[in-house]
Formats: sequence, structure tokens, C-alpha cells
Amino acid sequence: SRFMTNAVKAEDFELETTLRPKALDEYIGQDKAKEKLKIFIHAAKMRKESLDHVLLYGPPGLGKTTLSSIIANELGVQIRITSGPAIERPGDLAAILTNLGENDVLFIDEIHRLNRTVEEVLYPAMEDYALDIIIGKGPSARSIRLDLSRFTLIGATTRAGLLTAPLRDRFGVICKLNLYETEDLNKIVMRSANILGAKIEELASMEIGRRSRGTPRIANRLLKRVRDYAQVKGDGVITLQMARDALSMLEIDELGLDSVDRNILLTIIEKFDGGPVGLDTLAASTGEERNTIEDVYEPFLLQMGFLQRTPKGRIVTKLGYEHLGLRIQE
Ligand code: ADP
Repeated sequence: SRFMTNAVKAEDFELETTLRPKALDEYIGQDKAKEKLKIFIHAAKMRKESLDHVLLYGPPGLGKTTLSSIIANELGVQIRITSGPAIERPGDLAAILTNLGENDVLFIDEIHRLNRTVEEVLYPAMEDYALDIIIGKGPSARSIRLDLSRFTLIGATTRAGLLTAPLRDRFGVICKLNLYETEDLNKIVMRSANILGAKIEELASMEIGRRSRGTPRIANRLLKRVRDYAQVKGDGVITLQMARDALSMLEIDELGLDSVDRNILLTIIEKFDGGPVGLDTLAASTGEERNTIEDVYEPFLLQMGFLQRTPKGRIVTKLGYEHLGLRIQE
């Protein structure tokens, strides 16, 4: 099984719901985003107004959905959760918008995947809290304007650049979520273990955190698998040795690279002399989707310094070679 696919299985969904922090103070890391949001939420509450529209962007599993629910909680309003591909027609969006209460939050995941006609309905909704509806057909058709409650749209996407400029411009608050530091992932693993009632040594938690590709969702999944392993192979206590053994069984290496990460680096080295190679070519030769490489794998490999982006394509760095135990051919 793979750890970083976007599709959430039923078991994981349940797990994610129980592990989701509910208040801003429980949300670990992302200090910049938290600080900004704290101020804007506070100001909106003081003025008893809706919070300005918020765009959250960053790789999957970093806590965008979680943060949106927290924002709604902190504002003391309801949240309605949907996604770009789920809203097929303008009428779908109209139905959602007209059902929102005063100052409520509407969360649209993968907002870059809204289709054009739906997106155009969203503009006046975001700007004037109004819907323009066409009634009738032909010469007798007329447009009427429907007032909506004031609401906060929170859009989530992997890269801000995926949004059209007019949509991006309509967000008042834009927050980038970054890959997490090991120390923060350690805290997340400890917190999750506590909620799950799993006994874990601090060193084991750090080990899982360090090998989670900077991503809380992966940290939580690895924790769960390591817990299973410790239960079957030991007495249930997650020791450092248990964590190490379980992670190596899962083919997660010392620095957290999984088999796909390694395959991407190896493909560039073996088939393209270390690069540069274009993204489409790389996708074709690894069998991974272009978007998955760009949104999921690349951010981590870039952060680790194993991969570099150049105008001509991706190249594997000296560090990348070394990590795989290889040397650059001169
Ligand atoms: P995204 O929407 O960015 O794909 P999610 O909000 O679904 O990510 O987060 C994935 C999981 O990671 C959630 O179950 C949540 O428990 C955990 N998580 C994410 N961010 C944090 C955080 N800052 N602190 C604690 N847990 C987090």
C-alpha cells in the first residue's frame, strides 16, 4: 500500500477525523499561518463580521482541511465542506451558497478544479454576496440578483499557481503551508499516540516524525502501522527498535524516502544520466502521474536537496546520488 495517495480510505478517514485538532492552539506548527489567522479571526469576531476569504495552499496532508474546520470553530460558525470536482454545475454551487448561514465557512478542497462556468458564479458571490440567476430562455430571459448571507470561502489547493488570476485575486488572506519540521511531527505523533491510547517512547516518536516526509497525514499513518507491528511482534509498546523494524519493513528509508521517491531519483540517474529531464518525460518513465510528482514527491525531494529544478528540467544533486549510495559519473 502507498502512503501518500490523495484518496482517503474509509479507515483512514475515521482515523483522520479522530486525530484532527479542533482549536488553533492544538494545531501544531505552521506558526506563520497561525499567527496571521489568529489576528484576522479575532478582528472579524470583534466586528461581528465574516472573515475575509482564505486561500490555503501546500502539498496534500499538511492540514488544510483541518485548519479550515479550526477556523470555523474559532469563529463559532458552521462549516460546509465540498470540493472543486464535486460541484459540477452552477446550480450545485447556488444550492450550497443559498444554504449557508450568516458568517458560515464554505470549504472548497481542490478549488483549482472548479469548472469555468461554476467559477464565474463564484465571483459575485465572493465579492458582493450575491448570485446572478438567469430566468427563462430566449428574448424573455432576464437576470435576477439573489442576496446571500455573508460567508467566508476557504479554498484549498496544492499550488497557488493552479488558480486562475481572477479567482486568486478574490482571496483576501493567502496562506502557504510548508512541510513540517521533525520536531513538530514528533509532537503530532505523540499527540496522536495519546489519543489512540498507544504506548510510545519519545525516541520512537521522533523516528516516525523524522521519516514522515514532513507530512502529518503520513506521520499518523506510519504511527498506525508501527503500532500494529509492535502489537504483533512485541508487547504493544512502540520502542525505537520496533519503529525502526516496522519502517524498514514498509520500505521507508532512513530519511523517510519511500519506494516511489527512490524510483524517481533512480530513474533520472539511470535513464537520463542524472538529468535534466522534463516532468512529462519523467512521468512517462516512472509510471507516476505528472501532477502527483509535482504536488506530492517533488516538494519533499527538493526540500531534502536531492532534486533540483532547472529551466531544462529536473536534475538529481550530488546529495541525491550519495543518499542512494551512488556516485556521479564524471
Ligand atoms: P490536507 O487537507 O492538507 O490534505 P488534512 O487537514 O486532511 O490535510 O490533514 C491530514 C491529517 O493530518 C489530519 O488527520 C490531521 O489529524 C493531521 N494534521 C494535519 N495538520 C496537523 C497539525 N498542524 N497538527 C496536528 N495534526 C495535524
